[in-house]
Amino acid sequence: MSLAARKIRLIMELRRAGIADTRVLSAVERVPREAFVPPTFQDQAYENRALPIGHGQTLSQPQVVAVMTQALEAGPRSKVLEIGTGSGYQTAVLSRLCRRVYTIERYRELLRAAEQRFAALRLHNITTRAGDGAQGWPAQAPFERVIVTAAAPEVPGELVDQLAPGGILVLPVGRTGRDQDLLCLRRGEAGVIEERLGGVRFVPLIRGAPAETAGNPAVGTSSPEAQPTGRAGPTLA
Ligand code: SAH
Repeated sequence: MSLAARKIRLIMELRRAGIADTRVLSAVERVPREAFVPPTFQDQAYENRALPIGHGQTLSQPQVVAVMTQALEAGPRSKVLEIGTGSGYQTAVLSRLCRRVYTIERYRELLRAAEQRFAALRLHNITTRAGDGAQGWPAQAPFERVIVTAAAPEVPGELVDQLAPGGILVLPVGRTGRDQDLLCLRRGEAGVIEERLGGVRFVPLIRGAPAETAGNPAVGTSSPEAQPTGRAGPTLA
């Protein structure tokens, strides 16, 4: 089966999984996931599964990317903050929907590779930074939307503080290796309203200084994968 046919099959699968926002489906369709996948996993670029990207990190499952993007309700005027650039795939999907994406990654090497992909795909509305995304990006705040693609034990207060009024924050919360909750927080006039979207499993959000290249960045398969855990809520079911 050709990559194009596999992509169509994936879009159908996302529709069946409850992704109804056509702007999200069209953004997924327009971003070549094969450009974000390591050479050895090219044939799996359009499988609905997470894939290793090196440094023990993972490119999230397409369904999780779609669920999080849909929950973010981002539009052409949104200024979005993303924590955990990784391969840059989620960033690229967001860049098709939003005014500008600010993205932070703690591994410089992953960030450099992602920046090269953005340039090759001519995605010019992305601003990148190496650092600890758990602290947000105060100089650029507030953001209409914030998305975190690594799991924190609890919602980082800094990120809620940098959310504009009416803003939405989507993030996995929970401990590594355990079921985590995908949460959607809305900052309204009456305070922050929290909604649980389902169960997921992400790599951990690690606080502190950005990691320098050390040891073997080889692609491995032992890390937790960003995918639903089976006790998903209605959005992931
Ligand atoms: N959205 C990415 C998923 C990458 S996995 C993709 O689609 O490819 C999560 C990423 O979060 C990893 O690359 C990890 O290095 C990064 N990360 C973890 N803690 C972080 C932190 N405090 N600040 C910035 N990035 C972080």
